Amino acid sequence: MENPALGEVFAHAPVTTEQHLDEVLDEVSRAHPLWAALPAADRRRYLLGCREAMLSAADRIAGLLTREQGKPLRHAQAEVRLSADWFAHTAALATEPEPVARESGARITLERVPHGVVAAIAPSNYPVLLAVCKIAPALLAGNTVVLKPSPVTPLSSLLLGEVLGAVLPAGTFRVVNGEASLGSRLTGHPAVRLVSFTGSTDTGRAIARQAAADLKRVVLELGGNDPAIVLPDADVETTARQLFDRAMVNSGQFCAAVKRVYIPRERSHEYAEALGALARSAVLGDGLDPATELGPLVSRAQLTRVSALVDDAVRAGARLVAGGRTAPRPGHFYLPTVVTGLPEGTALEAEEQFGPVIPVIGYDDPATVVAHVNASPYGLGCSLWGDPDRADALARSLDCGTVWTNTHGELRHDVPFGGHRHSGIGVEYGHWGLLEYTQIRIHHPAPREGLAPRAGDQESS
Ligand code: NAD
Repeated sequence: MENPALGEVFAHAPVTTEQHLDEVLDEVSRAHPLWAALPAADRRRYLLGCREAMLSAADRIAGLLTREQGKPLRHAQAEVRLSADWFAHTAALATEPEPVARESGARITLERVPHGVVAAIAPSNYPVLLAVCKIAPALLAGNTVVLKPSPVTPLSSLLLGEVLGAVLPAGTFRVVNGEASLGSRLTGHPAVRLVSFTGSTDTGRAIARQAAADLKRVVLELGGNDPAIVLPDADVETTARQLFDRAMVNSGQFCAAVKRVYIPRERSHEYAEALGALARSAVLGDGLDPATELGPLVSRAQLTRVSALVDDAVRAGARLVAGGRTAPRPGHFYLPTVVTGLPEGTALEAEEQFGPVIPVIGYDDPATVVAHVNASPYGLGCSLWGDPDRADALARSLDCGTVWTNTHGELRHDVPFGGHRHSGIGVEYGHWGLLEYTQIRIHHPAPREGLAPRAGDQESS
């Protein structure tokens, strides 16, 4: 495995063979009925045990996460703590059956039952958190889980597998490691009934196609190209600072980072200069150095992609305000970049760049920008900046999973998150995320004459 801050190999990760994957799937398939038959209270207790186990191993997991992913150590530590707490938040979610109707004295009940074996496929930007967001609700609902992390960042997940494996019953949760071909064998395996995937839109499409063959359920949390729309009255200094920080989260490698900024045309120069000054003052470095604000890109391939998108925009006539090249140091660093004057249709605006780059785009009329961003294939998030009343009114016309006013990319464990259009299918987090890991079973019992109706019961006609 390569440390992206140094561009050097620092460890080797065991790779799962196809035969071993089949054995793992056999084990989790056998474990599923036992796990599903446990009372939910027992599964909740196991989840709380997972939290404790993660917290005990937090320093080891966070250290590996920084070395394989590149993010500052304090951010890796925060990711691990949040992930541990996710087990507790999930354990608190309700799973009880609900009465839905009454007929001839019998209560018709809706139960939430597990799918069976869940394949959890995670990306390279938040490998620990985005794995736990799947593992915790899948387990609570009574599924067993096989996790395949990104082959670029498998070490923290393999350690997570060991740590959780020590507290969970055998076969309830396993981690496998390999390239896309192993992912595809996992998601295509007949033992798997639900694929929960977070990653790029292209991979999501491939998974959906494959899942269609035997009608597996899918939850797809895919790419985003989130716009921030600044209204004319916003204060430049505070807004530019916020936009910069929310674009540069994890060096731009965050699905809900600000990825393009729309500014009233007469003020776009002012904003571009303010963002450029912030870009020039950001401190890049190894995540293990406490002074580091921005780490590297996760891989050489990602660095090449970001570089190519910026070079293409500049060739097409865009102006670089800051950055626009790799940093003169080892590792996969790209200088924080601000670009303006992009000709219409430039790929840097139209595609998800997933790097520390802010395209600043002038506009004449907010309604036209709203129509423009709604026409993008991406519909993950969007933010509006300026007068809250005006922003909230415009928010209702945006076609995306989340609209923020005067903030961007704020996610919570109890608020569902998902994308419209090519940004995904289904949601994660909280009660609504948990439901994705269940299917409905209706229990329509035999008529019970004389059973007194309960408050809330409805007699069907
Ligand atoms: P990626 O699509 O390259 O890889 C994600 C995972 O899919 C990896 O584990 C990979 O090995 C696996 N994979 C690849 N091909 C596969 C196949 N055919 N079948 C099964 N598995 C396969 O994504 P990445 O570069 O690791 O992550 C970045 C992307 O993730 C960005 O597009 C980002 O926006 C997106 N993302 C979305 C969210 C969200 O919640 N919407 C959150 C984080 C990241």
